[in-house]
Amino acid sequence: MKKVFAPKCLRGRPYYVTHDKFVRPCCYFVDHGWEPNAPKDESPKGEKLWPIHDVKWLRDPKTNLKNYKHIDDVFKTKLYRDFYDSLLDAVDTGHIDNLPKRCINKCYTNNPQSLSSQDKTNITGKDITPRSWDLRNPYNNDQFVGSRKIQLDLTHRCRLGCPTCMRFILDGPNKGERRQVVNDEFTVEDISKIVGDGTKYRSYNFCGSIGDAIYTPQFMEIVKYIIDNSKDPNLSIVIHTNGSGKKAEWWKELYSLLRPRHDQVIFGVDGLEDTAPLYRKFINFNESFEAMKMGAEFGFKNNQWQYIVFKFNQHQVYEAEALAKKTGIDFLVVKSDRFKKDDPHMPDKKWLPEDFVKRMEL
Ligand code: SF4
Ligand code: SF4
Repeated sequence: MKKVFAPKCLRGRPYYVTHDKFVRPCCYFVDHGWEPNAPKDESPKGEKLWPIHDVKWLRDPKTNLKNYKHIDDVFKTKLYRDFYDSLLDAVDTGHIDNLPKRCINKCYTNNPQSLSSQDKTNITGKDITPRSWDLRNPYNNDQFVGSRKIQLDLTHRCRLGCPTCMRFILDGPNKGERRQVVNDEFTVEDISKIVGDGTKYRSYNFCGSIGDAIYTPQFMEIVKYIIDNSKDPNLSIVIHTNGSGKKAEWWKELYSLLRPRHDQVIFGVDGLEDTAPLYRKFINFNESFEAMKMGAEFGFKNNQWQYIVFKFNQHQVYEAEALAKKTGIDFLVVKSDRFKKDDPHMPDKKWLPEDFVKRMEL
């Protein structure tokens, strides 16, 4: 089948804001690689190069929320208009050569139907071409009317040390060192620039790239601000966390703020008490489990325990699943494709995605 360019950011994919407030078209545009201790070419990823080496405006202050009153003002800059024009043009003409490598890598596909198009509210752009598969122009004259979803990396903080987390340098002479990012994070004032009059965004996702949202000092106030000031009855907040390091009182306050039918906490806990800290270094299984359990008691049926299967925890998958079921927690087995060929942590084939097994010829 012929490959086509089908940009997910024009099909409802969430925008992304870094912990130091750079506004991005999507979370593939994390901008690692600029840090003083990062090697020039950090990862032998071939065409999956870090965008920072290819898209020069990624650290341009013109894309930083700090310099504006509202996030729409960033999207209304010439820089963003030109960027979206170049994506639309590539769809129209099929010429992808001038696109960022990241866009080609992530959105040049032979199966555009797999790219779901979800949130159509407030979108007035017409289809660009019959072959554009429901793309929507994010501009309606002078207004920015793009996706109503946003993903925020709230903080640089985390108390864990997962070895392949983006918090750490992945390759080169400083491999394993903490990435020297700017120690900045979201405040209520920052979030107010996104919430605005409360009609713009209806889906907030706190899934970090270098930090775990729950350690943001103003986290509770930020959540409260969003809930108190959003006007969409379908507002949803999704929090991704390892779940440890917070007292029961803290979780009680959070669950009292969140709405069980709309909001969701997703816990990344890869194993039971003896194995969970083997990859997620310093996680406290009991604290995380108690936080999950309390969520079930508060009626959060959408909360989830996500369990990445490794060699060292594969024997506990069914035990963990039974524990989750008994406690009233939704359980999701995550078959990861991030293992290297001879990775000692790689589980048996049964716990790997089928296409990964084929690709790696396992
Ligand atoms: S990789 Fe590029 S084209 Fe794809 S969703 Fe992100 S910004 Fe859009
Ligand atoms: S819990 Fe998340 S943010 Fe923290 S070290 Fe692990 S992967 Fe990184």
